[in-house]
Amino acid sequence: MGLKFHNTLTRAVEEFAPLTPPHVGLYCCGPTVYDFGHIGNFRTFVFSDLVRRYLEFRGFSVNHVMNITDVEDKIIRRVHETGLSLAEFTGQYTDAFLADLASLHCLPPHHLPRATGHIDGMIQLISRLMERGIAYRAADGSVYFSIDRYRKSERWPGCACHYGQLVNLNLDDQRQTERVASDEYDKDNVADFALWKARVPEDGAVSWPSPWGDGRPGWHIECSAMSMALLGDSFDLHLGGEDLAFPHHEDEIAQSEGSGGLHGDIAGKARPFVKYWLHGAHLLVEGRKMSKSLGNFYTVRDLVGRGFSGREIRSLLLSAHYRETFNFTLAGLDGSRTALARIDECVGKLRERAAGTTAAPAPGLLQAFTDAMDDDLNISRGWATVFDWVREQNRALAANELDATRAAAELAAWERVDHVLGLGAKATDEAPAEIVALAEARVAAKKAKDFAKSDALRAEIKAQGWIVEDTPKGPKLKRA
Ligand SMILES: [Zn+2]
Repeated sequence: MGLKFHNTLTRAVEEFAPLTPPHVGLYCCGPTVYDFGHIGNFRTFVFSDLVRRYLEFRGFSVNHVMNITDVEDKIIRRVHETGLSLAEFTGQYTDAFLADLASLHCLPPHHLPRATGHIDGMIQLISRLMERGIAYRAADGSVYFSIDRYRKSERWPGCACHYGQLVNLNLDDQRQTERVASDEYDKDNVADFALWKARVPEDGAVSWPSPWGDGRPGWHIECSAMSMALLGDSFDLHLGGEDLAFPHHEDEIAQSEGSGGLHGDIAGKARPFVKYWLHGAHLLVEGRKMSKSLGNFYTVRDLVGRGFSGREIRSLLLSAHYRETFNFTLAGLDGSRTALARIDECVGKLRERAAGTTAAPAPGLLQAFTDAMDDDLNISRGWATVFDWVREQNRALAANELDATRAAAELAAWERVDHVLGLGAKATDEAPAEIVALAEARVAAKKAKDFAKSDALRAEIKAQGWIVEDTPKGPKLKRA
């Protein structure tokens, strides 16, 4: 029994066989940096972190790439409104994104390419598509990908050259629509998508020279260029949220395979652009689609501000299978806190019993966890194996059946599993009694509306190296 993934390309669960084992190239569509990321976005990023960690657990050597989309319509609008430069505007949200990623215990991807750093590669790909007659320049100077010409093009060996690989499309019905439905009137066909957008006055300073005039890339070509630049023209795994499967990923395949690859490696060789496509399902929040007007729109920062830790948010985002729609709730976060406390308590007791002894990992938990996760990352079964193990360890500890060596072996197994789940140890920084006393005095001062005193106490706590944060669950002390 080996590792299996559900491949959107074949709509089947398949044995995972990378192109050049033990190496695995993994690309995940990253954020568009015009605002703070919400937890719906982060479900996908935590999922891609899980895939990477599990592949490493299974002995693969992963090259993990996540792009940063730092030029795109919404970004340009916001740059225009704020008066900042493109780099200043996107820089602040890129930093915030990376901080949020770290707070959710995601390992930093090996490469975080910015779209603006790969404009040359995008121009190269578009040039190849022009040479092959698949792309055309419209009257306004924009360049479009022609789906009809792609479908009729001379086929590369290895290039499926058909549009609609990820989703079943009835192109003949859908694509003959009049172009009035679109605001891009210069296209031959409404289905064609922009590879290069000619500069318009609202773009301000955001434009690059190209053989077709000044402009900027379309979003889809960005991911083709960045993924092939860093992982080669043909690579193993491409991940993203299910909302990206069409048209974004479909268009990535069409551009990449239609061009023959950034390095010309798809043309003439029986290779696809990507071997396995994995898509994560949507996240509902409090039972509904997340929306600012419903008050169920949370960024990672919002939840941390409510007193939840990154590991609590992470474990809730990881509690259901990635292909299932998941309902994220604040009550669920409380449940995560309780569940993690059970694990922490058990691991703490094992650590006490092991008393610094080391041992090779015990096989039981590792085998059960591997069996669960090999099955298309069946994380709910994975968690069940963890809690079965917790129950068994608690029983064995209570019955005095574990000596130091056995406790150390169980602990070593847990550490390997935890390296996949990415929970990490609970922050053990407990504030000393005198600091807790100051914090309690501050609560009393606040209740008495003596704000001068409560501010002075906050300052004193800070001077002693601690920060007090007010959360709906009461004040929380953190190291400054
Ligand atoms: Zn993408």
